Amino acid sequence: MIKKIITLVAIFALLLATNSVGATPPSTSLGASQAQRTLVLPEAADHSPVISLGTAHDPQSGQLVEGYAIIHYKGEQAKPDHAGKPAASVCYGFLAKDAKWKAVEPWVVNPANSRGLASDFIFSNLSGDIAKWENAVQGINILGNGSTATGTLIADTASPDGQNEVYFADVANDGAIAVTIVWGIFGGPPAGRQLVEWDQIYDDVDFDWSASGEADKMDFENIATHELGHSVGLADLYNSACSAETMYGYAGLGETIKRDLNTGDIAGVNKLY
Ligand SMILES: [Zn+2]
Repeated sequence: MIKKIITLVAIFALLLATNSVGATPPSTSLGASQAQRTLVLPEAADHSPVISLGTAHDPQSGQLVEGYAIIHYKGEQAKPDHAGKPAASVCYGFLAKDAKWKAVEPWVVNPANSRGLASDFIFSNLSGDIAKWENAVQGINILGNGSTATGTLIADTASPDGQNEVYFADVANDGAIAVTIVWGIFGGPPAGRQLVEWDQIYDDVDFDWSASGEADKMDFENIATHELGHSVGLADLYNSACSAETMYGYAGLGETIKRDLNTGDIAGVNKLY
């Protein structure tokens, strides 16, 4: 009996010592070093919002996968000519046709930021933004459940690591508000395509962030809902006829129009899932 208690106490102590990931978000924003980290992406030709990260093997399946970093630039810095353009009559586009999630994986966020957004707000807002996309497809579970971490997370620019990570950092590219990295199979027969990983970084060094659409800040819900559209497999739109869509490629300070999915966003995610 005593041996059993000692074992249980030891396991509990081990859990306390190692468990930096938990379902309950921390109540304070810590980890300044996390916020001061810089994400450096490979050089893209002439400021393209879509950067190829090359190929690598997915550690979970062993399959050869490709990576892309999709940068959300502030209005005037976006260069639409280099992004995939949907047909003018359709306000949605895919990273690649039929490239979608075929397995449900969890995600983890380190909500520490230098702009005073509360950790529990970040966690609950991200969860709610994911639910918007899932509710648009009759509640299909696409991106799984989230948890929070206090340890360092690293966006995977060279190869996937099997973890879908979200955090705040400096994105080196000028004017980059946020970056979503996706790994998956984007070529070959459409039936064989799929997404296998997503990571997301919000720039809290070059931009201030708001939970309430303040005029001189980036609204977190607005940007996150857009970025999560990339996580499920949607591409940016640059046709001005699609400016009401969440997946419209331009964003600005104080903007909140992307918080709610528009008809094109809903049609696109339904076409994919
Ligand atoms: Zn985007």
